[in-house]
Formats: sequence, structure tokens, C-alpha cells
Amino acid sequence: MIKRRKTHKIKIRNIYIGGDAPVAVQSMTNTATKDVEATLKQIKRLEEAGCELVRVGVPDMESAKALGKIISGTDLPVAADIHFDAKLAHEAISQGVHKLRINPGNLRNRDEVKSLAKQANSAGIPIRIGVNAGSLDPMLYKKYEGICAEAMVESADREIVLLNKVGFDNIIISLKASSVPICVEAYRLMSQLCDYPMHIGITEAGTRNFGTIKSSVGLGILLYEGIGDTLRVSLTDDPVQEIRVAWDILKSLEIRQRGPELISCPTCARTQIDVVRIACEVEERVRNIPYPLKLAVMGCVVNGPGEAKEADLGIAGGKGKGVIFKEGKKLRVVDEENLLDSFMDEVGKLVEEMRNIASKEIRE
Ligand code: SF4
Repeated sequence: MIKRRKTHKIKIRNIYIGGDAPVAVQSMTNTATKDVEATLKQIKRLEEAGCELVRVGVPDMESAKALGKIISGTDLPVAADIHFDAKLAHEAISQGVHKLRINPGNLRNRDEVKSLAKQANSAGIPIRIGVNAGSLDPMLYKKYEGICAEAMVESADREIVLLNKVGFDNIIISLKASSVPICVEAYRLMSQLCDYPMHIGITEAGTRNFGTIKSSVGLGILLYEGIGDTLRVSLTDDPVQEIRVAWDILKSLEIRQRGPELISCPTCARTQIDVVRIACEVEERVRNIPYPLKLAVMGCVVNGPGEAKEADLGIAGGKGKGVIFKEGKKLRVVDEENLLDSFMDEVGKLVEEMRNIASKEIRE
């Protein structure tokens, strides 16, 4: 069983991060923040996909001044991502942002950071110390002769000391690198030094394929070791894809459940129906179902009936046809050409049943 590391619990608008709060899923918009309409539209899509906290980049004053409208247009907690310019961070707090992310590698004026901490304290919002290997403080880069986990940890540690000096303790930490071993090592080291909540992520992980693998490996190791109170998967893709991958990582480790889980076989010489097409279609069609259904698409009778029986609903392939199972009971045998639609009809009925149960529970 995974044993979560004990951390402080921090409130951010209507959610908690750390302590006994569930590991929160977050992403970052890639629209121009000053384009409020486009940004809110993307935030809505992220929320529908399961995003629980959204971060927006604040590259200029126009973007900082747009934050108030963005915050009033969504129920999600909004974090402002600030680099280089403390003035933008001050404006973001004045606009009512719910969390601030600063990068100690490029916001290095100690007095400016202290002044930000004082304002964040009055506003009651947390600051994430977001160390990034690619923008490490040059002094630390020199001291450690390059990027390493120890240098990243020292960067975070110095910032903690600085914030603590002005009585600021509402802190979240991230130590991101695009190297999985460095990143994992940095989080492990930091976890031994403090009990601030950790925002975990593999930065600049890459495109949908390799980026998903890197993120899954890195975040999977950390989460399995109990490290990580919130996660952001960083992909060169639509940010909605980041949310899907983040949930799939949490589901794979059985940390949280959201939406259906599909079990499907890898196919082999015994496969008697088009499992690849059917499984991919099922996955696509059930994407927006919020209930944690277990579905199975299996190619033959070797493992098919067994796995399909374990599932809420499953298909086990036969020659040119398939058997649909519901909770272990054989429902019917359907020709391959009608198999997908018949299966989806059954999924639809099951979703309706779950919806009725959920609304009954709410009424009671
Ligand atoms: S379930 Fe059947 S078709 Fe699928 S991989 Fe196993 S043996 Fe092959």
C-alpha cells in the first residue's frame, strides 16, 4: 500500500493541497492570459476533463490585470505563474489570485521576495517555490558545477529560509527537471528536509508519446513512494491531454479514481475480433463519463471471459462475434459488426443506473 508522506494542509480557494487531501490534478493554460475569453474557454475544457487547479502564465502587466476577470469567470482555484518581475506578482495578488508560483532562479532580489511574501500573507494565499533545473540560480549552477538534485534542493531551501524570515509559512514546493533521475532524487531529498506540500512534475517532458512515458515513470516513482500532493503533467500538447494523463497515472496507482478504466488485451494469433479498433473506440466514447466503471475488451476465450467477468461490463471475442458480459453474467452474443454499438448501449444503461443512484444519494 502507498503511504503518503505527511505534509501541511493548505487551502487554495475551494480545495486543499497536502495533509489528508486527495492528490490534486492541475494543468496550465497555453492561451494568452490577456485574452480572457480564450483563457476561460480553455479553463472550462480543463475543468470538464478533471482539472482541479489551473495555473496561468503572467508574462506582462496586461496579463496580470486580466486575472481578476479570469478568477470571476471560473470556480477553479487560479495560480499565477511569475518569472523575473516582482511587480507582476504584486499585481496578481491584488487581482485576487489564489496562489502564486515564483521561480527562485530568476526572481533573485531578496527584498522583493520578502515584500511579496508579506503581501501574500495579508491576502492569505500560498506561494509555490517553483525550482526549475533549466533556470537554476547561476550561483548554484556554478557551485555544483551544473544541474543536480542537491543544487535544486539548496535553491528551494534558501527560498524557504527567506520566506520564513518574514513569518511566511504557507509554502508549496516543486523541484522540476526534464531528467527523471535528477527530478526524482531532488524530490526525495527535499521530502526528508521539510513537510511542506509537494507539487510534482517532470518539466518539459516532451510530446504526447514520450512525454507521457517520462511523466508516468517519474511521477509514478514519486507517488508510489508517497511523495506528491498535487501533480502537473507537462506535455507539448493540448493541456486537456495533461489532465487525462495525470488521471491515468493516479488511476494506475489506485490513488484516485475518475471515469472508466479500460482493460484490453494486447491481441495475438488467437484474436478473433478487431480488438484494437473496438478498444480504441470504446476508450474514446467513454472519455467523458465521470463514473469509475471497469470495462474490458478481450480478444478471445483464453483470458477474455475471466477479465470480462471481473469488469462491470466486458466483451470477450469469438469467431466474428463477441459475448457481452455484465458483472460476470453473460448478457448476449452479438455479431462483430454490431458489437461496439451493442456494448455502448449497455454502457449507456449502466451510466443511467449510476446517475440515478447518485441523484438518489444526493436527495437523501
Ligand atoms: S485475450 Fe486472447 S486474443 Fe487477447 S492476447 Fe490473450 S490470448 Fe490473445
